[in-house]
Amino acid sequence: MAYSVGEIGQRAAEIQVSHLVKRFGDLYAVQDVSLRIRKGDFYTFLGPSGCGKTTLLRIIAGFTQADSGDIIFDGKPVNHLPPWKREVGMVFQNFALWPHMSVFDNIAFGLRERKFAKDAIREKVYAALKMVDLEGTQNRRPSQLSGGQQQRVALARTLVVEPRGLLLDEPLSSLDAKLRVQMRNELVRLQRDLGITTIYVTHDQEEALALSTRIAVFSKGRVVQEGTPKEVYETPVRRFVADFVGTSNVLSGTVAEVVGETVSVKTAMGAVLRIRWNPPFDSPPRSGEPLLVSIRPESIRLADVKEDITENRIEGHVRTSIYLGAQVQYEVDIGTDSLLRVNLPNPRHLPVLPEGKAVRLGFAMADAGLLLGT
Ligand code: ATP
Repeated sequence: MAYSVGEIGQRAAEIQVSHLVKRFGDLYAVQDVSLRIRKGDFYTFLGPSGCGKTTLLRIIAGFTQADSGDIIFDGKPVNHLPPWKREVGMVFQNFALWPHMSVFDNIAFGLRERKFAKDAIREKVYAALKMVDLEGTQNRRPSQLSGGQQQRVALARTLVVEPRGLLLDEPLSSLDAKLRVQMRNELVRLQRDLGITTIYVTHDQEEALALSTRIAVFSKGRVVQEGTPKEVYETPVRRFVADFVGTSNVLSGTVAEVVGETVSVKTAMGAVLRIRWNPPFDSPPRSGEPLLVSIRPESIRLADVKEDITENRIEGHVRTSIYLGAQVQYEVDIGTDSLLRVNLPNPRHLPVLPEGKAVRLGFAMADAGLLLGT
């Protein structure tokens, strides 16, 4: 084979973004963003439409110039380098394949531009086709391929020139739901096998959790949280992250007491909840301070059934239930116009809790978190 999986990984760059700013008129599309993307990371920029993800990706690729700040590959600033000298490959949402060219010619394009010999091109194109499981399709036109296959050609075309980084802008969004999941799994496998530094832009939180080694959550041009999928999902530090990445219950309250690492929070509906304070808080909150508590719907259990969770209890009445097979989603009225979303595993032989039923809910101290801001 002309290149092996390992060789691409060896060329993988560490990509740093340092105090990057980009304005369009009065609008700050990217506001003082600093990030470090390690060699071999699958790093996702996650955020709602318009938060600056694509702009930052284009600045890293060299298609857009920043107003200030640096893009650094392996310790060296590349701000002054044009896209082709940065040696990163970009895959777009619409694949951007050349419709009049065969699959072979689409993949060979970058190699021909780089003046590779005919034999080397053949060898590399076939190796790339093998890499994305598309052997035998070299003579077809893109229109004779499925959406998923076209996406794989776009990947092969980008990877065949052995880039130092792979930049992907919502590459799965034009595929249907089932294919998205399949391609998502293939992409993870390919990226992990190759070890290529990858930056992935998406507004789909599930995709971000499934694919990434690390995630930066963006809001209004800023990074509001950065970490592994597990850290971002399980320990959101702001309400925006708790709401945007998965679903969360956010309850407001005031600090009643702090004993060691345990904060007692008196909530608006009267219940006192005990929560552990930990990073991002660098000091314990003070008595009387208002704050927010976040609890994931799947962390809440019926208190009286199986495990008797005693650390935190909330009483309420079932408002709605949605049977989803594997689980049942409830909305539980906990007074003062507050609803708690609770996902319980399917009780199987037991009936779904009826509307109006009084329930006692519980959750462990470790399963809730305090959020910065109010
Ligand atoms: P999406 O998921 O919708 O692509 P995004 O998070 O990638 O959103 P960007 O495309 O980076 O967001 O845009 C960030 C902000 O900058 C938006 O408000 C957008 O309208 C604005 N913007 C982007 N490109 C330009 C441009 N060339 N001229 C003016 N404003 C722009």
